[in-house]
Amino acid sequence: QDALLCYCRAGFEPELAAELTERAALAGVAGHARATRDDGYLLFHRDGGEPLAAALPWKELVFARQKLALIADIAAPDPRDRMTPVLAALEGRGRYGDLWMEHPDSDAGKPLSGLARSFGNALRPVLRARGFLTAQQDPRLPRLHVCFVAGDRVLLGRGQPADGAPWPLGIPRLRLHAGAPARSALKLEEALLSLLGEREREAWLRPGMRAADLGAAPGGWTWVLTRYHLHVAAIDNGPLQPQLHETGLVDHLRADGFRWSPETPLDWMVCDMVEQPRRVASRMATWFREGWCRHAIFNLKLPMKRRWQETRLCLDLFADETGSPLTVRARQLYHDREEITVFASRG
Ligand code: SAM
Repeated sequence: QDALLCYCRAGFEPELAAELTERAALAGVAGHARATRDDGYLLFHRDGGEPLAAALPWKELVFARQKLALIADIAAPDPRDRMTPVLAALEGRGRYGDLWMEHPDSDAGKPLSGLARSFGNALRPVLRARGFLTAQQDPRLPRLHVCFVAGDRVLLGRGQPADGAPWPLGIPRLRLHAGAPARSALKLEEALLSLLGEREREAWLRPGMRAADLGAAPGGWTWVLTRYHLHVAAIDNGPLQPQLHETGLVDHLRADGFRWSPETPLDWMVCDMVEQPRRVASRMATWFREGWCRHAIFNLKLPMKRRWQETRLCLDLFADETGSPLTVRARQLYHDREEITVFASRG
């Protein structure tokens, strides 16, 4: 069998299923998803065509927090001996450079974290003794994911470090800095961490660069940019947290973020205005078409229904209206609820 195990935000399984089905079809693969709402994960099975892992690169997926090749779906293991069926399923299935014990990020999955951890403590030395797992972590080898989806059901997945999220459960653990003016700072921090590579962050976030923040109040995103020593034009009719002014890097402009434009081109534009996603996507495209910024990060709020279709429509609309090809990466981040975050860059 050829199947993927993907994690997602609980409640967004139908969106992920629709996304995988459509992207697979575009890549010439027929497949179908087995998804239940609120599970926090799904299985996607190939019915024909090319192998799935290569046809669906993780970096291109919007609604997947993690992408794994399914090794085995082990139902109803005897609670006194979960080890035997797991070892049997791994026999002849290669060698792994790391072991991650996981569970879905869902109401049903979270209580399984203790079970996953203790089973992992028992499993790890046995895997090493059998030669299934290297003695030291080896990122050149695939990673073994053991995911408890119920007390009596374990999914085994193979993760390729270069084609998946580098965080257990696909969730980057970020702590809110004591000086941050709002929790929303975490969202931009996560976007910079997960949508840009390390070298891109170093090259594109340098002291003295200039940015605009559309819909900036109370100032979480602006604060993140000032931590990189960027100068920020913070556009919002609402008030900013006063400590932002003490940085000497922030200009607060009370203006309409859909009308305001910079006098000279900026390095960055970020936008967190809560508005119709098509309207936001179209305005963001204007910024690139007019050459007002080199890089942007913006949020698109999703509607209640047909959220994958709206996502695709907005991304298509953005690409059509920018007028020139850009690097575009979009993802529903851990800190995103009913929204996705887009990074766009002219490089
Ligand atoms: N990113 C901000 C932070 O980290 O603190 C939070 C932004 S909040 C979700 C949305 C903001 O967009 C609100 O402060 C609202 O006043 C602003 N906003 C909405 N429509 C706007 C518009 N047309 N022009 C300027 N600001 C707008």
